[in-house]
Amino acid sequence: MTEIPLGRRRPPRCPICGATPEPRFHPFCSARCADVDLNRWLTGVYAIPASESEDDDQENEGRE
Ligand SMILES: [Zn+2]
Repeated sequence: MTEIPLGRRRPPRCPICGATPEPRFHPFCSARCADVDLNRWLTGVYAIPASESEDDDQENEGRE
């Protein structure tokens, strides 16, 4: 049997640069790293093509 000691946990690391994370910017070490991660997210989101339907055309409330 193999038992893993509970006290051997790895300390958390900033997923961007691997530095010690700051509680303020958890789980990142700084606002900059948080920004980098956010940017990756946004880029991924914007990369998804969205099918837009124009419903601006149908707003004629009898104004003529
Ligand atoms: Zn970092």
